[in-house]
Amino acid sequence: MKIAAFTVDGNGTFAQDVPAFAAALSAAAADIVLVPGVSRVRRSMPAAALRAGMAIDTNVVAVMVDGDKATVQRWAYRQRILTTFTRAARPWVIVTDPALFSDICSKLGVVPVPVASDTPAETRTKVNGVVAAGAGGESTVKPDSPLLFVAGAGWTKKQADGATHLDEAAAVITGFLARSGASLGSSKSLVDMPEAAKAFSFMSHMNQVGQTGSTPRHAKGLSTCCHGEEPHVVGWRFVNNRRAVNLDANCGWAQGKADVLYVADAFAVMKKVNELLS
Ligand SMILES: Cc1cc2nc3c(=O)[nH]c(=O)nc-3n(C[C@H](O)[C@H](O)[C@H](O)COP(=O)(O)OP(=O)(O)OC[C@H]3O[C@@H](n4cnc5c(N)ncnc54)[C@H](O)[C@@H]3O)c2cc1C
Repeated sequence: MKIAAFTVDGNGTFAQDVPAFAAALSAAAADIVLVPGVSRVRRSMPAAALRAGMAIDTNVVAVMVDGDKATVQRWAYRQRILTTFTRAARPWVIVTDPALFSDICSKLGVVPVPVASDTPAETRTKVNGVVAAGAGGESTVKPDSPLLFVAGAGWTKKQADGATHLDEAAAVITGFLARSGASLGSSKSLVDMPEAAKAFSFMSHMNQVGQTGSTPRHAKGLSTCCHGEEPHVVGWRFVNNRRAVNLDANCGWAQGKADVLYVADAFAVMKKVNELLS
């Protein structure tokens, strides 16, 4: 496996650095390119990697190479969990913690060279044409709505019949949003779930409420199929009027976190609510 490394010193603008870095990355013709996460790299390297058609990961604190396999480590959850992962994509740009760059390079036996950043680049955009963006999808984050409707991972879990009902769940949730005008919140478990992404395409990380998500300020909140764990409920601190629907009478909401907990099947409850709102 060919590994290259670049040091990046001095100053540069985004407009100049992106094409220059992209040219340097391509010219290196390496499987892996290591760069230190200094401010100039953090600003321009992701766009340069995209331009050069390369995968990129940032904030890496360790790189291990074994044959054709490279494994890296980075912290998640604000330094609470050290994650180890690998990537099949090549070329792969790995942006390391700047303080660890020299150590990582010497452990891998790579000698870094200064990146060529004086490549002349066109900094003016040439407009080739205009394509209408289309109507786009409707946003489900509505800060001005009086109601926050939270959908948790329970919507994706096996139900009483032993099967999951993702499409049905998506239809019930979007049906309620359309009828009520509520803003959609979610739990981390649900937005992080790749198997739910297709059916729940109206939902993204922007919907996540909680410690590592948002802290919305709606007058009322209704949580469904969400356990009500502390890292999630901390995001509800400005929502005073709280209700939850959960099959589990001992869920987090029952521990003083909601004003009213309906111990019920959210599929049945929300279908009935949608009917009543129609
Ligand atoms: C450092 C840290 C930060 C975190 N930050 C966040 C954050 O910002 N936001 C966040 O949300 N989480 C966060 N978490 C994760 C959090 O601890 C929980 O894991 C997560 O909120 C659980 O999501 P959930 O309640 O949707 O899923 P689950 O815990 O899987 O709960 C699903 C619930 O659905 C119920 N259910 C299933 N089917 C039905 C049905 N038919 N009707 C009614 N109820 C049903 C089940 O009884 C269950 O209670 C964080 C964790 C850590 C460690």
